[in-house]
Amino acid sequence: MITIKSIRTRVWNWKGPTVPPTGNFCTNASDALGIRGDAMQSFRFHQWLTCEVETTDGTIGIGNAALAPSLVKKAIDEYYAPMVIGEDPFDYAWIWEKMYRRTHAWGRKGVGMTAISAIDIAIWDLMGKLAGKPVFKLLGGRTKEKIPCYYSKLYAGPIDSMQAEAEEAMKKGYVGFKTRFGYGPRDGMAGMRENLKRVEAVREAIGWERDLMLEAYMGWNLDYTKRMIPKLEKFEPRWLEEPVIADDLRGYAELNRGPIPISGGEHEYSLLGCAQLLQEKAVSVLQYDTNRVGGITAAQKINAVAEAHQIPVIPHAGQMHNYHLTMANMNCPIAEYFPVFDVEVGNELFYYIFEGDPDADDDGFLQLDDNLPGLGITITDKHLEHFEIEE
Ligand SMILES: [Mg+2]
Repeated sequence: MITIKSIRTRVWNWKGPTVPPTGNFCTNASDALGIRGDAMQSFRFHQWLTCEVETTDGTIGIGNAALAPSLVKKAIDEYYAPMVIGEDPFDYAWIWEKMYRRTHAWGRKGVGMTAISAIDIAIWDLMGKLAGKPVFKLLGGRTKEKIPCYYSKLYAGPIDSMQAEAEEAMKKGYVGFKTRFGYGPRDGMAGMRENLKRVEAVREAIGWERDLMLEAYMGWNLDYTKRMIPKLEKFEPRWLEEPVIADDLRGYAELNRGPIPISGGEHEYSLLGCAQLLQEKAVSVLQYDTNRVGGITAAQKINAVAEAHQIPVIPHAGQMHNYHLTMANMNCPIAEYFPVFDVEVGNELFYYIFEGDPDADDDGFLQLDDNLPGLGITITDKHLEHFEIEE
């Protein structure tokens, strides 16, 4: 029998050139602190973790995580790897429960669940490779000819450059466009007006036949959001994303009873965490992040619960693990797509670490290969000179 032999974790620290973002490029949870200087610090992450799970026959499955990579590495090396080594990768549900229950006191949210996610994603890649099938074929197969994508960037900045970016992206056929707010409660009425000017400019650039998504990245609060929603309604947004901090479940539920659909979940963890969002009717679109929520094993269970609640799932972030889940589930209608750009906030890093992510920038759709086993990505050494790697 083929069993898991070893797990190799690496933290990739980006040392290459970065594009300095403009001052108010996206609100975030730290804004409330009012710290002068770099309030965007908690938003940017120029580190990534790769997790390679190898079996006794030499097959390697690749997983990854982008949340606190140094801590996740330590959690995997010291706690999770010893539980997984020696197991049959096809016993993935058992392995998942073992990781979850043995670290339950500290691991069920945050760093622990991110570590579980990285290993679980690697195990699915491994299963695909061992079975000679793409992961989506193991999850239910093809539910759509190709995956429609929405363009996710349009950080707040000078209005003319946001409009130029939107106009350029429009030519590519994306089904929707997500823009970020630059101003929140501390910026008062003047900031509200700045926010509205930018939403109006982007709506003008993309017209009225494609979706407009709005993202606050937990940088607002309940009161501010309630004041903003009536002003935003006329732009017919597809959704308003993470207006309040992730723990404010009641805030989400209250807002979601209003006229603009509320989306969220990229900072929620595990099946039961996401089930609670659904039970409380806290979101109209669920956006778990596969490499935080508990990997593909947890994501697939959440997909079933969300489908039963008639809530579409549009996972947070581009990346292959999300695309395979989207391809295999009718209830995942479109995918978030981070266009390939120079390194800015850090979302772009996976294009510099992996090879194989499909390109949606031709026509706004992406495709998965029916004949490529596993997730279909490899770790590349093309940009190694820009990384400092912790083994
Ligand atoms: Mg988001």
